[in-house]
Order: sequence, then structure tokens, then C-alpha cells
Amino acid sequence: MATIAFIGLGNMGGPMAANLVRAGHQVTVFDLMPVAVKTLTDMGATSAATANEAARGAAFVITMLPASRHVESVYLGEGGLLAAVGPEAIVIDCSTIDAATARKVASAAKEKGVVMLDAPVSGGVAGAAAGTLSFMCGGDDAAFAKIRPILENMGKNIFHAGGNGAGQVAKICNNMLLSVLMVGTSEALRLGVDNGLDPKRLSEIMLASSGRNWTLEVYNPAPGVMEGAPASNDYKPGFMTELMLKDLGLAMETAVASGSATPMGALARNLYASHFRRGNGKLDFSSIYQYLADQ
Ligand code: NAD
Repeated sequence: MATIAFIGLGNMGGPMAANLVRAGHQVTVFDLMPVAVKTLTDMGATSAATANEAARGAAFVITMLPASRHVESVYLGEGGLLAAVGPEAIVIDCSTIDAATARKVASAAKEKGVVMLDAPVSGGVAGAAAGTLSFMCGGDDAAFAKIRPILENMGKNIFHAGGNGAGQVAKICNNMLLSVLMVGTSEALRLGVDNGLDPKRLSEIMLASSGRNWTLEVYNPAPGVMEGAPASNDYKPGFMTELMLKDLGLAMETAVASGSATPMGALARNLYASHFRRGNGKLDFSSIYQYLADQ
């Protein structure tokens, strides 16, 4: 069993750290929110007064923070985490951030002799609780081999996408595609409904035809079509519109940096930005179906 520091115990990090405790690891946790820490210490984790204290002596240091600026400040800020991590430790950042920041922090770690990987996840809060997340990792081969058994306690699909930053690129490529599929599926269902079709029947037809895709299979955006989908539960998330908008922003930044053409991703980002600005950030991202209805 390993000694693990886990920093950032929010909606995702909390249940992920809990799975490491359940797997029998010696987990030391830190978060700015005492209530998040208490849930973990009640389960058997040890609490630390600071992120650096948690990291001292740990074989693996995992962070699950909101956005790039948090990751930069935790690792590179005054008296940052890298100063506390031992040379034998491996650092894993699971936050979804831009690839450039992931590479910058990993190279600062390397200068201090510390190996770091990016390992953003997909699968949402339910996947974090069930231990079925997908991890998309960026970093060197030997380090990936070492972190794999740890990640297997929290997820079931563990991918090595390439070098530092590659995990973040894979994550935003997937989410950009997902947003385009969600908008397209919503648009097709609305067109059918506006022309007198039952959305359930239309979904069955498209599922058996060339329009089949993941949103129709497990996440239908039309209310009442699929029991258990956020659309059938007042669009309670699920995966919030504001998080999809964040990921699309990262995709656009990456596309600008690489000179890539992403016209559909740009359109999806604009639609999600308008939806967000109307106060729908906390609704599931499939609520774009309602947004289209209001046009
Ligand atoms: P969250 O806001 O619920 O949790 C973030 C946690 O980090 C909070 O508990 C906060 O107190 C803590 N934190 C912030 N700054 C800190 C600091 N300096 N030191 C210690 N703790 C600090 O966010 P989340 O939903 O858990 O998401 C975390 C990351 O995972 C994000 O990058 C998000 O994009 C990504 N993600 C989220 C989902 C999802 O469905 N929620 C799915 C996949 C990926």
C-alpha cells in the first residue's frame, strides 16, 4: 500500500480520495474547505494543515483543483508544493486545465528533480464515486507505469496519451466532440418535435440509423425520453453547463495556439456561452436542448 497526499476534495476529488482510502492506502488530505476534509478523515484519512504538509514524505501527490490558476498557485506560488515533494515522489495533477500550464508546471517540477504527469478524468461525479473514471495521462512511460495501479483504484480506463500535456489535449478533444454531438442531437430532436414527431420514437429511429451517437445511447437531451438522464430530472447535473463552457474555452485556446480549425467547436462554445449567460450554468449541459427551443 502507498502513502498518498490528496489535495482538492471537491465534487470529484472527495470521492476519488475516498476510493483510495477504501483501497487501503495511507492517504493524507488537504482542502481549503474543512467540511470536505472532515468527510475524508471520518473515513480514515489523515488531515494536514497545508498542502505542503500533506505532500511531505508521500510517494504519490495527487491534486484535483478547479482550474489552471489554482494549479499554478498551488505548485508554483510562494513556498509552492514542489518545494515539499520528495525526489522519489510522483506528482499527478487530475484537474482539467490548459495543456500549456500542465507542461509549464511539469517542467518546473522536472527542474527540481520531481516527476509529474497530467491525468485529467472523464466520467463525472458518478464515475468518481463508483471508481469507474477514465484517466487520460500525459507524461513519461516509466512514471505512467508506476501511477497506473494507483489510478486503477479510482478508474477503470487508464490511457497514456503521450508526453506532458497530452492528457489535457485528449480530454478537451473528447469534450469538444461531446458538445458538438450534444448540440447536433438536440437540434435534430427539436426539428422532429417541431414537425410533429414523438422524441422517443425519433430517438429509436436515429439510434438504429447513421445518426447514432453516445448522447442518444445514454444521455438523451429531450425530457421524458430516457429515464435517469438529467433531461428527465429537470436537467440536474450530471455535467454542468459551466464546466462544459470551461472545457470549450480550453479547447479554443489550444486550437488558437496550434492554428487548428475548429469551426464546430467554436459554434458550440458560443451556444454554451449564451446559454450560460442566461443563468443556466448550473444546469446539466444537455439543457442546450431547451436553449434551442427558446430560439
Ligand atoms: P470543485 O470545485 O467541486 O472542487 C475543487 C476543490 O478544490 C474544492 O473543494 C476547493 O476547496 C479546492 N481548492 C481550491 N483551491 C485550493 C487550494 N489552493 N488548496 C486546496 N484546495 C483547494 O471541482 P470539481 O467538480 O471537483 O472539479 C475538479 C476538476 O475536475 C476541475 O478541473 C473540473 O473541470 C474537473 N472535472 C470535473 C468533472 C465534474 O463533473 N465535476 C468531471 C470531469 C473533470
